Amino acid sequence: MSFTPPTADQILAMRVCAGIDELAAHERYAAATPDLVAAIAEGIGQFAAGHWAPLNRIGDTQGAAIGDGVVRLPAGFAEAYRAYVDAGWNAIAGPDAFGGQDLPFTLACCVMENLGAANMAFTLLPMLTLGAIEALKLHGSAGQQALYLPRLITGEWSGTMNLTEPQAGSDVGALRTTAEPIADGSHAGKYRINGSKIFITWGEHELAENIIHLVLARVPGAPAGSRGISLFLVPKYLVSADGGIGVRNDLRAVSIEHKLGIHASPTCVMSYGDKGECIGELIGLENEGLKAMFTMMNSARINVGSQGVQIAEAAFQQAARYARDRVQSARAGSADKAPVAIIRHPDVRRMLLRMKALTEGGRALLYYTAGQVDRGVLGDAPAQQRADVLVPMLKAWGTDLGCEVASLGLQVHGGMGFIEETGAAQFYRDARIAPIYEGTNGIQAADLVTRKLGYANGQVLMNLFADIASGLDEASPLAALVRDCMAVAEWMTGGASIDDKLAGSVPFCTMCAVAVSGWQLLRQARGAEESGAAIARSKRVVARYFNEQIVAEASGLRAAAMGGADVLYALDDTELVN
Ligand SMILES: Cc1cc2nc3c(=O)[nH]c(=O)nc-3n(C[C@H](O)[C@H](O)[C@H](O)COP(=O)(O)OP(=O)(O)OC[C@H]3O[C@@H](n4cnc5c(N)ncnc54)[C@H](O)[C@@H]3O)c2cc1C
Repeated sequence: MSFTPPTADQILAMRVCAGIDELAAHERYAAATPDLVAAIAEGIGQFAAGHWAPLNRIGDTQGAAIGDGVVRLPAGFAEAYRAYVDAGWNAIAGPDAFGGQDLPFTLACCVMENLGAANMAFTLLPMLTLGAIEALKLHGSAGQQALYLPRLITGEWSGTMNLTEPQAGSDVGALRTTAEPIADGSHAGKYRINGSKIFITWGEHELAENIIHLVLARVPGAPAGSRGISLFLVPKYLVSADGGIGVRNDLRAVSIEHKLGIHASPTCVMSYGDKGECIGELIGLENEGLKAMFTMMNSARINVGSQGVQIAEAAFQQAARYARDRVQSARAGSADKAPVAIIRHPDVRRMLLRMKALTEGGRALLYYTAGQVDRGVLGDAPAQQRADVLVPMLKAWGTDLGCEVASLGLQVHGGMGFIEETGAAQFYRDARIAPIYEGTNGIQAADLVTRKLGYANGQVLMNLFADIASGLDEASPLAALVRDCMAVAEWMTGGASIDDKLAGSVPFCTMCAVAVSGWQLLRQARGAEESGAAIARSKRVVARYFNEQIVAEASGLRAAAMGGADVLYALDDTELVN
């Protein structure tokens, strides 16, 4: 499948939304000069288009397969992964003490965005590794960091995240995997891990030399629920003190799932400790695993929000190509009765412009969030809090728009979209997982209204709304949407019941995300104009369309956001399902 990297738009988003030039003014990120930013965006775009995009189709049609506990990928994946590692792309934002380049997270997002638009299923492999690096960087001991970080950062080893068990999905606290402390012998101080995990992304494969599983489990006597969860590092191959790869640990992939999409990503059922000899080491403190896991999940949630943008970009490009080639009917009202390419018809143009505006709006939100994360790393506490409230918006709305754009892309193809060979259907299938994993979008919205809305007595969100509203024409759709968001937030914090808040959480989350994106697109349009960027004209139109139509639509969600839970419970369970 061909993929043209959206480099100019990414550079604009990094410059205007993430404020990468300001970040580079800080000593820590001084290396992120405009030249380097452009070189990275161009380089990873070419790499993704040249090495990973050509494997997207075969990854879908052949997929990952398991035999005798060994997971195999179609031809070409091992070489493409090796090329990625050799080029150093995995190391962009890793700490330099362990071989990373210590560049802003914003640039790591640009790397992920390009790879994922070229091949979403494959990109889950480095994405999970980046999450493991983040967890070890912040919660690992000095010894664990020295032993495991260097080769996770190069990508020679990969990482996984093991939360889910059959009875413990959204309710992570229900997990039952156990960890018994080892008192003596060569593994004294470590733990014996025992249990099963399901749905583990890239849980087994042979593309990396070792796989570092981060596993949530309970130590003996741990409190019930999420307060009794600890995080363990469980390598596929045990690692000796000098970093050498040792014997195979007692863990295995039992099977891989047959899925709607992302077929090249092995989603594994994992068994730990069949022989009672699965060795793991504690990360951080006992019973504080969820805190460490949240670190990993925050970065992963941004990257999953990005997946919505990635799949939207890919689906848009495919649909735009098709719309230029496919000829059907003359333009309505035209004197010329010759049939035209479907891109000339108003409704196809509506679909394409909506796809483009949603994609660029999602990208603007992605890089705005990434820039706030980078400021948080530099010690800017308000930016960190703002990043925290943006993450659920990005994860939820970013992935919802991925599905919408992929669906529109299929529609642009007409019947050919429903036929697998055009590839439009693959985007539609691949996109559908993103609103589900990494905490469903319902759970993201709940996080926004139950935790984030209350940050600093609601001021974090209110300050964000005030920044969006600043300088806006009062009569503009965006000013109206900000007023709607504020009204919902005030209603939610002003005595609405928990059920009422949760009932309106998803529409509220969408309203907030659209408001931030509309604002950032307007800023991009101004920034492009001022710098004379070649995409200035296109950006002006996209920002106008987004604000006139998508922002206006989001205001219509106010009724649902403030509708309350009463109507949802007006039918009892039996009446509801009959
Ligand atoms: C392809 C794939 C890859 C995955 N990769 C990984 C991985 O690498 N590691 C890992 O640990 N897990 C992974 N998962 C698991 C994934 O994170 C979970 O599937 C997800 O968190 C939802 O859990 P669940 O499937 O049990 O759904 P449930 O928790 O059963 O949810 C079902 C529905 O109920 C809703 N719901 C549940 N509880 C609440 C509530 N309290 N309030 C409101 N609504 C609620 C949900 O929003 C959802 O709509 C993966 C899953 C898939 C399908």
